[in-house]
Amino acid sequence: MKGRKLLMIPGPIEFDPAVLQAMSIPTTSHVAPNFIASFGHALDMMKEVWLCPSGQAFVVAGSGTLAMDIAAANLIEPGDKALVVSTGYFGERYADILGRYGAEIDILRADVGEIVPLETIEAKLQQKNYKLLTFTHVDTSTGVLNDPRPFGELGKKYDVLTILDGVCSVAGEEIRQEEWNIDVALTASQKAVGVPPGLALLVASPKAMDTWKNRKYPVPNYYADFKNWLPIMEAYQSRKPSYFGTPPVNLILALETSLQLILNDGMEFRFAKHRKLAKAFRESMQAMGLELFPQRNEIAANTLSAVYYPKGIDGNSFRKEINRQGVIVAGGLLKEKKTEYFRVGHMGEINQNDLVSTVSAIENALKSCGHSFEFGIGIKTALELLS
Ligand SMILES: *Cc1c(COP(=O)(O)O)cnc(C)c1O
Repeated sequence: MKGRKLLMIPGPIEFDPAVLQAMSIPTTSHVAPNFIASFGHALDMMKEVWLCPSGQAFVVAGSGTLAMDIAAANLIEPGDKALVVSTGYFGERYADILGRYGAEIDILRADVGEIVPLETIEAKLQQKNYKLLTFTHVDTSTGVLNDPRPFGELGKKYDVLTILDGVCSVAGEEIRQEEWNIDVALTASQKAVGVPPGLALLVASPKAMDTWKNRKYPVPNYYADFKNWLPIMEAYQSRKPSYFGTPPVNLILALETSLQLILNDGMEFRFAKHRKLAKAFRESMQAMGLELFPQRNEIAANTLSAVYYPKGIDGNSFRKEINRQGVIVAGGLLKEKKTEYFRVGHMGEINQNDLVSTVSAIENALKSCGHSFEFGIGIKTALELLS
């Protein structure tokens, strides 16, 4: 063995060899004809992956947090009312970001392992004239999934912009941005999109772009301002050179490669594959007597799972044992429960064998940590659901 390990965390994930190869080809000028074609093609494909044909795609060097920042900086003006629907760690971060731009924020917090009930959100929207509403599609800290559809419907009904934090969902979970009336769907390269870390990615609806165009005050963040980036995206879309800040050439080539792989499979296939792998993973955990963090199956994510450690088992030594078995999983992230659970990313290019290997490593680790269960039931469950 080469001592390789399977990286099963919620990003960075395992990358396709073709994507990694794009990272290592000689870097060209950002205005070289081939690069212009690749960047333009990547922007076109983003709208297909996001299912948002009328949207405006943006690719900016940075992480997912920058994508959140860009949406907030361009859409919020001082005194605007914003509603943050939080299912955990990244909802709190979004409230922080919106606050920096002078938004008056209300936060609705879900109970641990739950979503915020729609009636609660609607009641809030009836009370005040909100400009925008943010929610986390897949909460990376809890493995909880929000259905974006009702958010889009509420956005339409109350004329509120909807921002979907899809950093852990875009290109894995079902998203139909345009049909579902989502104004901004944002992500980062290293999660389900399947490209090494370094790109903030977002698609904005015509309504979001109009809101930005009609601002009273300039965007108070120089690097994030659409005014700087829109002409660049438009230039590459029409296959013309342009410059504002040097684009990360190899990452964008890798993005083009990965989006092409995703579209070769097709979005419907991609959504179904994530559902199938996730279901097999969850049921195999439950078969071994483990409890999932999301309180109900309908709100369990398909891109990652959060699972409680069994009683009496020390999380750190358990995860170390999984690692020794060749698989890397992540610890807890939600402050109040950090030491009680672990997280497994099962998104992007991973296949059934990767999933079974992961279940097998967890199963072996459970055994060596002294958990009592029917040894073998985990992989058996996974194999039955995957075959
Ligand atoms: C990972 C993640 C982020 C932050 O992305 P970075 O690339 O780490 O900045 C934000 N929101 C969600 C839902 C995430 O999973």
